[in-house]
Amino acid sequence: MDKKRKLFRRALSLVLVLALFLPLAGREMVMESSAVTKAEIDALKGDASALASQRKDIQAQLKSIQSDKNAAMRKKELLESQIDVIQQEIANINTQIAMYDQLIAEKTAELEQAEADERAQFDLFCRRMRYMEEQGEETSYWAILFSSSSFAELLDNYMMIEEIIQYDNRVMDDLVALQERVTADRTALEEAQAEQEEAKARQLAAQDELEAQEAEVDKLIVEINAREDLLEAMEEELNKAAKDLDAQIKAKEKEYAAQIASVPSESGYLWPLSGSYNVLSSLFGPRLHPTTHKPGNHSGVDIPAPSGTRISAAMSGVVIHAAKGTGSSWSYGNYVIVAHSNGTSTLYAHMSRIGCSKGQTVKQGDVIGYVGTTGRSTGNHLHFEIRKGSTRVDPLNYFKDKALYVRDSGRLVSVWG
Ligand SMILES: [Zn+2]
Repeated sequence: MDKKRKLFRRALSLVLVLALFLPLAGREMVMESSAVTKAEIDALKGDASALASQRKDIQAQLKSIQSDKNAAMRKKELLESQIDVIQQEIANINTQIAMYDQLIAEKTAELEQAEADERAQFDLFCRRMRYMEEQGEETSYWAILFSSSSFAELLDNYMMIEEIIQYDNRVMDDLVALQERVTADRTALEEAQAEQEEAKARQLAAQDELEAQEAEVDKLIVEINAREDLLEAMEEELNKAAKDLDAQIKAKEKEYAAQIASVPSESGYLWPLSGSYNVLSSLFGPRLHPTTHKPGNHSGVDIPAPSGTRISAAMSGVVIHAAKGTGSSWSYGNYVIVAHSNGTSTLYAHMSRIGCSKGQTVKQGDVIGYVGTTGRSTGNHLHFEIRKGSTRVDPLNYFKDKALYVRDSGRLVSVWG
């Protein structure tokens, strides 16, 4: 790894680390006795999901880069096979050029031979003439003609001389014709060779062009590899950050569980409203919903009381929810959940105002909110639930000793029958 890259990676990790801690530093910490709050854990979980989505994004980029790279590799392969073909063509042309060289050499030798033959023939002719000259008057053609003793002999001699001259002419003509033919053959071969040379030049140019394209593709592949390395480094850093964050979340959750475990549960639950509010408008279990009139299962008990009546924690514990319900919990309005170390939790809904905050440790009897009619509610009342783990149970199971009533045709009737 070169120095520049090292530096870059160091900068990248710094940015990632900062990205992890900045949102935490800016977040409002709930000032409670407890060291850990659910909000803190939720914030960490938010950071974790942000990291997860960043990682997903990087993985998508890696995938698209991979397909870019595959495309580039395919293009490179294609170019290489084209170059292969051109190189084979050039090799073939080279073979042809070599063959032409051989044929031209042969023709050149033939031509030289023909020229030598012509020279030899001419020499022969000259020598004959010189010989006849040297022999004096009686051997010249004229002397032979005039030595004829009769007209018939003269004609014979004339024919003989003409035959000799014609023979000389024929031999010379043949030699010249041969030279011309061989020269024409050689010229044709040279032209064909020149064509092959041109074809070779064209193929070499095409090869250069393809090699230039291949060099471009190689450059692209190098760039893609660099980007891939960078993204992989980022992914690695994110994985590390996510792992660290998971460890933090686990630790905080453990701490949070320890916080809940550190608040001893009482042996029984306290009625969350003052004792005089002991007439229930709705019991736990199957009923027609008071506002929607649909058959449903009432998840708690409803205790009507005037708006602003103080609501107490039924048991000591840690507030794990203290906010307006959203989404599927919208119908609760403002509500609070207190987690208890005995594994149960209590829920208080429809508050006009919340009197505690998430993460807070509360003692049995502490005021945690005020009666209201927020959410899906027809009037001021406390909707009270007890959950064992995640299962809702009938709260009245824990108040068997308490005098509690319901209205039946205007008359108060004990819930215990
Ligand atoms: Zn209710």
